[in-house]
Amino acid sequence: MPLHRVDQARQYAPDDLYALPGSFEPLPRYRIPEGTMPARAAYQLVHDELLLDGNSRQNLATFCTTWAEPEVQTIMAEALDKNLIDKDEYPQTAEIESRCVHILADLWHAPDGSSAVGCSTTGSSEAAMLAGLAMQRRWRARRRAAGQSTERPNLVCGPVQVCWEKFGRYFDVELRQIPLLPDSLTMRPEQLADYCDENTIGVVATLGVTFNGEYEPVAEIAGALDELQQRTGFDIPVHVDAASGGFVAPFLQPDLEWDFRLERVKSINASGHKFGLSPLGVGWAIWREAAYLPEELVFHVDYLGGDMPTFALNFSRPGGEVIAQYYNLVRLGRDGFTAVQEACAKVAARLADAIAELGPFSVLHDGRSGLPAVCWTLTRQPRPDSDDWTLYDLSERLRLRGWQVPTYPLPADRSDVAVQRVVVRHGVSRDLAELLLDDLKAALTDIRRRHLSGAEQQPGFHH
Ligand SMILES: *Cc1c(COP(=O)(O)O)cnc(C)c1O
Repeated sequence: MPLHRVDQARQYAPDDLYALPGSFEPLPRYRIPEGTMPARAAYQLVHDELLLDGNSRQNLATFCTTWAEPEVQTIMAEALDKNLIDKDEYPQTAEIESRCVHILADLWHAPDGSSAVGCSTTGSSEAAMLAGLAMQRRWRARRRAAGQSTERPNLVCGPVQVCWEKFGRYFDVELRQIPLLPDSLTMRPEQLADYCDENTIGVVATLGVTFNGEYEPVAEIAGALDELQQRTGFDIPVHVDAASGGFVAPFLQPDLEWDFRLERVKSINASGHKFGLSPLGVGWAIWREAAYLPEELVFHVDYLGGDMPTFALNFSRPGGEVIAQYYNLVRLGRDGFTAVQEACAKVAARLADAIAELGPFSVLHDGRSGLPAVCWTLTRQPRPDSDDWTLYDLSERLRLRGWQVPTYPLPADRSDVAVQRVVVRHGVSRDLAELLLDDLKAALTDIRRRHLSGAEQQPGFHH
C-alpha cells in the first residue's frame, strides 16, 4: 500500500462557500468594508440573510405579483441594462411601452380615434401623483382664466389607498375622504354633493378598494357628478384608481362600465405589478384625451439624444418590468387573462364559503364581484377590555405556519370593525387555499382552547 502524503496547501484552500474568506465574520452592517470578498461568498451570505424575509407566496396581504413564469424571469434578466428613460438608445423598449399604453387605453375603452395619452410609472402611487397633478393643474388654469382664487384645492374620495393621502400632502391639496356609511364598504354616490365644491379638482373612485376588494360604483358616482353639475355648474372630473381592478374588470366583469365608456372618467391608473401579473415596479396612467394632461407637465429632454416627451417623477428606471408587461399581454391575451383571473375568483369564492361555514365569521366580500379577494369579520365583535380572542390573535397564530393574513380596522366611520382579508392572486391555487383553510381551522381550535373564557364559550363571563 503506497504511503500518501497530505498536501498542506490543498488542505487549507478549501473550495467551500462557507469556508471562503469573508465567511467567518458577520457581514458588515453600517460601514463599507475595506476589503473585498469572493462574489460567490458575498452572494451566498446575502442570499442567506434574506431567508429571514419569509415566503412571499404565503403573504396573502399583498396584491403584488409573487409568482412569474420562467420566461418573465429570463426577460427581466435580459433587460438588466435597459434604461426606460433613454428612449434614443433603447427605441424598441420605448416602442413596447407605447404599445402597452395603446393596449390599455383600448382595454379601458378610450373612444375610437381619441388622442388618449399615457405612460408607465413605477406603480400606481406614481401614477396617482401624475394624475392628481394633471387634475390640479387643469383646475388651476381654469380658475386663473376666470380670475378666481387657486388657493384651496381639494380632492374628494372614499376609502382610498395611502398614495392619495401622499398626493394631498406632497402637493398641498386637501384630501376629503368621505366616511363610510354603516351599511356600505365604499363611498356612496349620494354622499358626494356634501363634499364637492368649486375647489374640487376631481373625485377619485377606487376600482378595488384596498380594505375589502369591493369596486366603488363608478357609473353612479359619475351620474351623481352629472347631477351636481346641472345644479351648481361644477364640472368635476373622475379619476379611477384601478390599481387592481384595471386588470380584473376587463376580463371578469366586461359589461361593468367603470372606464372611459363613462364620459366623466378622464384618467385611470393601474398597477402592472398587481393583477397585471408583471414583476414589481410597473404601473400605468392613461388620460382619455391629451387635453386632460396639461402640456406644462410634459418634459422634453434632449440630452440623451432624440426628443421624447416624458411625464414622470423619476428619470432613470428599469425597462424590464414594462417589457414583461408587454410579454404578459401578448402571451396571455384576453383569453389567458380571463382564465387566470377567473381561476383566482373561483378560489376566492371557495375560500369565502368555507370561511363562512367555520362559524365565528361574517364574510363581507366573497370575490364573486369586485376583486378576487375575501374579507371577513367576527360575527360577534370582541368586547373591549375582555379576554375575548380577536382577529389579531388569529393573524398571529396563522403566522406560525407562515401565512400572512392581515387584520386591520375598516376606514372611518366604521373603524370599530376589525377585518381580515386574503388576496387571491395568480398562484394562490385551490390547493394552497385548502392548506390555508386547514391551518385556519387548527388555529381556531387552538385559540379557543387558550381563550376558554372567550365570547363564544361563556358570553357573560369576565375575569
Ligand atoms: C396598491 C394600490 C395603490 C398603490 O399602488 P402601488 O402600485 O403599490 O404604488 C393605489 N391604489 C390602490 C387602490 C391600490 O390597491
